[in-house]
Amino acid sequence: MCERHLLSRQNFLKAALALAASPLLRYVPAHAADQAEVSEIAPGVFVHQGRYELQSPENRGDMANASFVVGSEAVAVIDTLGSAVAGRELRSAIRAVTGKPIRYVINTHMHPDHVFGNAAFKEDSPTFVGHHKLARGLASRAERYLAINKQMLGDDAFQGIEIILPTLAVDGSQTLDLGGRSLVLETQRTAHTDNDMTITDSATDTWFLGDLLFSVHVPTLDGSIKGWLALLDAFSRRQAARVVPGHGPKAMELPGALEPEQRYLAAIANDVRRLIEEGKTLEDATKTAGFSERDAWKLFDQYHVRNVTAAFAELEWE
Ligand SMILES: [Zn+2]
Repeated sequence: MCERHLLSRQNFLKAALALAASPLLRYVPAHAADQAEVSEIAPGVFVHQGRYELQSPENRGDMANASFVVGSEAVAVIDTLGSAVAGRELRSAIRAVTGKPIRYVINTHMHPDHVFGNAAFKEDSPTFVGHHKLARGLASRAERYLAINKQMLGDDAFQGIEIILPTLAVDGSQTLDLGGRSLVLETQRTAHTDNDMTITDSATDTWFLGDLLFSVHVPTLDGSIKGWLALLDAFSRRQAARVVPGHGPKAMELPGALEPEQRYLAAIANDVRRLIEEGKTLEDATKTAGFSERDAWKLFDQYHVRNVTAAFAELEWE
């Protein structure tokens, strides 16, 4: 047996073992290049796992988790990936599972890798749902988000991207009925951004945390580090059968799922507070604060300095 053959066999065995050990009910492989891979992590709850990458022509903005929940009457999509092309691949995966109407497209927050696939669902005429602050946040950043993504995705993957704002703005808690199951939406305080919303599926007690939970992929701070740490503290006292992160594995368990992110954010906050006390500058902080976490995360070099910069600006005025 040649070495290459052996390696691919080992990889296959590894993948098979990982699948057997995971709680997946059903793995829906992509039958065609234009269909996203999804797994059924609980009855009627499907998750597509995004890549741990920056957006590129190759990944077409497929870098965040996207989910859908199938009720007896309708389907709700939770996040739509980072381009209309990737959004269409997600839609094809939904259509491979069910022909029920896609009634809701829910965005967990305003970031492009979660909302730029919205246009792929326009033909379904769904209600687009988001935090009441999402529209303001996304509208004010739209020009910049579009320019950056056009550049990073390239013309082919950028094609068809549109800013689609929520038609249903949630403030506090709201329940959506899918037939036989409902989704409970809860807007959260400023943390990862100022417009994050979590979703709980009543039938399976699956809690979708969006980017309030990162795993493997380094967290990105675009809201408040103090707010985020306080929110994670509150989340760690809650229960759910499973949680779905915005970036990371398809499903995780509380409270362990939160711990690495709590550790990462606390490392930044503690280091930045100490440096400020010592009279150090932002530049000093970007060279040392939180670097104990460097080996624990993917994309650390791409996002960490920005996180420290945001934390410094916030904590400077305590
Ligand atoms: Zn995000």
